[in-house]
Amino acid sequence: MITVEEARALLFDLVAPLDTEIVPLHEAAGRILAEDVRATRDQPPFAASSMDGYAVKATEVELHAMFKVIGESAAGQRFDDKVGPGQAVRIFTGAPVPEGADFVVIQEDTDRRGDLITITDDPGSKTNIRPAGIDFAVGTRIAAPRRLRPEDIALMAAMNLPLVRVTRKPEIALISTGDELVMPGETPGPDQIIASNTFGLKALLEDVGAHVRILPIAQDTVGSLETAFGLAQDADLVVTIGGASVGDYDLVADVSESLGMERAFYKIRMRPGKPLMAGRMGDTAMVGLPGNPVSAMVCGYLFLAPMVRHMLGQEQALTPFRRARLTAPLGKNGPREHYMRAVLDENGIRACDDQDSSLLSVLAQANALLVRDPHDPERPAGDEVQYLPI
Ligand code: AMP
Ligand code: MG
Repeated sequence: MITVEEARALLFDLVAPLDTEIVPLHEAAGRILAEDVRATRDQPPFAASSMDGYAVKATEVELHAMFKVIGESAAGQRFDDKVGPGQAVRIFTGAPVPEGADFVVIQEDTDRRGDLITITDDPGSKTNIRPAGIDFAVGTRIAAPRRLRPEDIALMAAMNLPLVRVTRKPEIALISTGDELVMPGETPGPDQIIASNTFGLKALLEDVGAHVRILPIAQDTVGSLETAFGLAQDADLVVTIGGASVGDYDLVADVSESLGMERAFYKIRMRPGKPLMAGRMGDTAMVGLPGNPVSAMVCGYLFLAPMVRHMLGQEQALTPFRRARLTAPLGKNGPREHYMRAVLDENGIRACDDQDSSLLSVLAQANALLVRDPHDPERPAGDEVQYLPI
């Protein structure tokens, strides 16, 4: 059996960063920027007013000073003449500051009678002008790779970049296996349950940037599994759920090997999720997850999400563990690394009471996986431990 760290290294060897594609900016949120982009313009493209008020000469600004209003500069429609001594131009937020003016007195500090304004309150020393290019200038760079957040999309729109080159989404095929499973919405027989972690995994993997296809449930027969693998051929990664252990109906290892799977490893020294297998089938990477709902989801966080990030070309494929203090004591750990469902709050972290790997309700209450080394001793409240946020 190998460690989690060794397994992750082997899994990264099974997949490579994918090719790229161009998408419209409005569809690029959450995608991974694949090449650097540069602004094609200055923002703002001219010195702009940041307030509604009057544009005047700074040297003339003082309490009780009077100016003659000679025109107006609005956002989208500049005042085309110069501001001379004793003159003011009515100006609005975002409008170009006219030539000759270098100060905007805010409207609230003035009194207007016809064409005349008087400064009635201390205008201060802030000019209320945004210099040209203060936000960004032609050539300002956004460096790849980068997961595009809403803020990045707004910035790229301002830079006038309507198309963006991103890494193609990894295509993942999910195969649930088991005669006992039916899809949500179907009517289960008396001995059946609903496929669940399949849907949790799809959500988890799409959250990190993959496109996930849920294939029809494979029965625990060689033929049914072969059919499912056949449907998954064009994927970048095939993930099976269940059937990975040593029971009479655990056929995933045998069937995948008969179809040419070159195995990279089988079994990891961890809890939950020991029977995890991985390898390559032609151009496709294959990971066989244990069926227990919590094991499958924990393996999704620890192994599949990093593989997706690696395929997307992200620099930090592995989410670093964080540290927090225990708010409740922990018993000693056994010989395997343990990823315990845990609740993190402002006081620290505590492991959930029941760690059985079938309990999705406990997983749904957790917001962290508390990471324990093999043979970690008993720990009192207050000890610092490592965790992975989920
Ligand atoms: P297996 O690895 O096939 O022995 O499955 C282990 C346990 O996980 C069994 O109780 C299965 O019923 C359950 N299981 C397997 N696949 C799923 C699934 N997709 N959704 C929910 N439970 C599952
Ligand atoms: Mg099964």
